[in-house]
Amino acid sequence: MRLVLLGPPGAGKGTQARRLAERFGVPHLSTGDLLREQVGAGTVLGRRAADFIDSGRLVPDALITAIVRGRLHSGRAADGYVLDGYPRSAVQAKALETILAETGTALTAALDLVVDEEEVVRRIGGRQVCLRDSGHIFHLHTAPPIVRGLCDHCGGELYQRSDDRPATVRDRLAVYAEQTAPVARFYADAGLLRTVDAEGTADEVTRRVLDTLGLARVGGRR
Ligand code: AMP
Repeated sequence: MRLVLLGPPGAGKGTQARRLAERFGVPHLSTGDLLREQVGAGTVLGRRAADFIDSGRLVPDALITAIVRGRLHSGRAADGYVLDGYPRSAVQAKALETILAETGTALTAALDLVVDEEEVVRRIGGRQVCLRDSGHIFHLHTAPPIVRGLCDHCGGELYQRSDDRPATVRDRLAVYAEQTAPVARFYADAGLLRTVDAEGTADEVTRRVLDTLGLARVGGRR
């Protein structure tokens, strides 16, 4: 399974990517998580990326592609992966084609999670993310943690992402419309695009994703 997840911020890419990766036993590669880890660790890359992330802009294509190339060439990705947050521009989509050619592999599908803007703003407004590497995502109202402020899975502290503030969310949506929406057309032209209605609960969306992949009943678990 080599999947790409597309969709605006707040579409549920992180939640669905994590579930799919667990189900298929392949790595979940979130470029946003990778960058946030680098920012948190104060590395050179993290320092370069921080301003872009905080202002809702994309970090330069070459920078992120170098990271993704390294991950996709590594043995851990040999049996597949779920890419979450990459490619995010036409340049990145072409770069991924090059990486696939280098590794002699092909994508299974590109899943486009579709939600309307009002829902995106509502979801991001209450989003809380685990500070530790578990990266689990909660929502103050729709998916609250058992203990307020703490991750159910590892006890890590939950926080609001710096780029989830309303002003930055507007900028991220504009960047998405301008730079990332064309990526869906790229995969539609390649015959790989699967559009999924991403409104509703995470379980409902997972069911639709598995249906789209023709896997809803495989193994008896949805
Ligand atoms: P995400 O967690 O996917 O919402 O990503 C958070 C932020 O990280 C984005 O708003 C960008 O600033 C940066 N980022 C993540 N993935 C990419 C990418 N593929 N290309 C450029 N910037 C990215």
